[in-house]
Amino acid sequence: MSSLKEVLNQNVREAAPELVEPLDRNRLRCFSCGHECPIPEGQAGVCKVRFNLGGKLYVPHGYVGGVQCDPIEKKPFFHVHPGALAYSFGMLGCDLHCSYCQNWVTSQALRDPSAVSPPLKASPEALVRQALRQGARVLVSTYNEPLITSEWAVEIFKEARAAGLDTAFVSNGNGTPQVLEYLRPWIDYYKVDLKSFDDARYRKLGGRLAPILRTIRQLHEMGLWVEIVTLLIPGFNDSSEELQRAAEFLVSVSPDIPWHVTAFHQDYRMTDPDDTPPSTLKRAAEIGKRAGLKFVYAGNLPGRVDTLENTYCPTCNELLVERYSYMIKQYRITPDGSCPKCLAQIPGRWGKQFEGQITAVPYSAGLRVFS
Ligand code: SF4
Repeated sequence: MSSLKEVLNQNVREAAPELVEPLDRNRLRCFSCGHECPIPEGQAGVCKVRFNLGGKLYVPHGYVGGVQCDPIEKKPFFHVHPGALAYSFGMLGCDLHCSYCQNWVTSQALRDPSAVSPPLKASPEALVRQALRQGARVLVSTYNEPLITSEWAVEIFKEARAAGLDTAFVSNGNGTPQVLEYLRPWIDYYKVDLKSFDDARYRKLGGRLAPILRTIRQLHEMGLWVEIVTLLIPGFNDSSEELQRAAEFLVSVSPDIPWHVTAFHQDYRMTDPDDTPPSTLKRAAEIGKRAGLKFVYAGNLPGRVDTLENTYCPTCNELLVERYSYMIKQYRITPDGSCPKCLAQIPGRWGKQFEGQITAVPYSAGLRVFS
């Protein structure tokens, strides 16, 4: 029987020319993520899914690690068509190795023998057909790190756009200027996990802080809709001083960027810290708002974070969207995207009206035919 690595090595295509640069001694520089690996002949990059064979860079193609229909609030996007269905696919592998990963079955499939997730053959046409059949509005590359499989995402996104769907990445943000330019024509929304504001801690997760910050700024400058998530882990990244620096950075990019501070629960290899209490999320939200962010949300603890699941008008404090977990309970934004009371424009991508919610809970049953 073929190993997972062998199966994946058969499902490849050549890298996009924009994302690769020849170096000396048959090595290749990959620009698909912030590691910018110089990959020797016969070797793979840090992500283990892009490899140099005979002086050509081969990258994943033609499969998915899994698919699921999620409420868009789960990604989380709170300022993108509230209530919409987000048809979500994942690949395998990641360029970081966070011990607390909540998607480790797909992200660490090539590093950790216990993370088993067999790939499923897929075509862009079949994925888009299935997304439309489910009533999706957005097609999302998520669950593992989508940057490392950007070529495959673009193939799917081209098909999705042609069918009238919007497209999105849920990503750790470890990008490069080259990969963001490559994605730019085909992507509408981008969620970045800002895991910490401390470079030393980022290095423990296998990354660096600088490429993440550069990516957030570039995404905003390119005009994509960006939301940021920080999973707060007690004792790891939840000091007031660190949260303050993160919030100040986001304000310097744009005070309109929504910041989701979410609760950690024990998972994967990180079982030492306690689960994040609601008080930590409230403290982080207070810091974000005081720093000047207009929209700060507390996630993963529905009903336990006061009003921090809702959207309020930053000008007059009118309730605009009321949520409980992923459920939309009230939607009051006007057809032109403004507050019904003071008429202030609310940043985001809003529809003419609330179109209801197909589901407020994720489901995957029945989503198994791809080609
Ligand atoms: S995607 Fe990132 S980790 Fe993978 S080969 Fe390219 S630069 Fe290296």
